[in-house]
Amino acid sequence: MLLIACKAPDQEAKQAGTVMGTVYAQTIYGTEEGIQSARDLQGKLQVLEQVVLSRKTETSELWKVNASFMQGNKKPYQITAQLAEYLQQLIQISADSDGALDITLGAAAQLWNFDEQAGENSGQELIPSAEQIREVMSHTGMDKLQMTKGEDGLWYLQIPEGMQLDLGAAGKGIACDIACDFLMDKEGITSAVVSVGGSILVYGSKPDGSPWMVAVAHPREKNKKLGVLKLQGTHYISTSGDYERYFMAGEKRYHHILDPGTGYPADSGLCSVTIVCDSGLLSDALSTACFVLGQEKGMALAEKYHAMILMVDDQGTLFMNDSMKACFQVTND
Ligand code: AMP
Ligand code: MG
Repeated sequence: MLLIACKAPDQEAKQAGTVMGTVYAQTIYGTEEGIQSARDLQGKLQVLEQVVLSRKTETSELWKVNASFMQGNKKPYQITAQLAEYLQQLIQISADSDGALDITLGAAAQLWNFDEQAGENSGQELIPSAEQIREVMSHTGMDKLQMTKGEDGLWYLQIPEGMQLDLGAAGKGIACDIACDFLMDKEGITSAVVSVGGSILVYGSKPDGSPWMVAVAHPREKNKKLGVLKLQGTHYISTSGDYERYFMAGEKRYHHILDPGTGYPADSGLCSVTIVCDSGLLSDALSTACFVLGQEKGMALAEKYHAMILMVDDQGTLFMNDSMKACFQVTND
């Protein structure tokens, strides 16, 4: 008699909720045991926010760093190797983007408060005064942030009083990196899609071998897409747009991606930037930086990091590099 080991077909499990104050969704394919072993993924990402990254939650390491210097600490503050690793990468991307990515804009982000207010016609009164913007911007600047490794092998951070760090430009991508590590550690998971706000991880290959199809939102028409990305294997996708957290004052749009040179919303002529690459932190940080840089410099930065890039300007024109052209399909739905 011949016994043939028959592989059970992959199961699919979906879950949705909120992570990092934004929409969260996961779909996992694998054996029943594999899927069971991954049921804590969303909780793990909530812990990342509450323990490390949040600018607003008092339990997080970032909040404690900010609070320490707000209270007048003048000495280097010891940080975990995990936070130091994120900061090191972000400092490098900031330097490579001529400061377009600036994680010292926390006080400016708090002043504009785009998280709380959004709407088509919210009005002029939501715009902070020029004096308020000048005041918060006088404490910003990557050159004022110092991170050093001590002789004890530990990492230390020092920022001036009045500065607040904000990792909002990369947090959701970092969550996708953590999700990927988590899934790789589990037995019996073949593939997955995890999305945290504007950042998405597609992991492994779909059970039927077909490519991942990731929609890119139309920046001006709700519920419409610009097109789809067709991707095979594991990738990270991040989109930064001026349609996410914004308000209108008359005809002018005020949105959450700030120009570190002015403290006002970036006015680079772009309304949306999508990056695809092999790191969540990188895809998220680059999408923000390229948005601030605008079409030409944004394209150059993406190329430097061997990332795919799709940009949409305020006339609705699409700009892509060759690697993006190979997997992006314009659709009209
Ligand atoms: P994203 O949606 O990934 O483009 O990130 C935007 C978020 O990052 C904002 O909501 C702010 O919290 C923060 N931010 C805004 N402008 C910048 C900037 N120029 N560099 C770094 N972070 C920024
Ligand atoms: Mg980003």
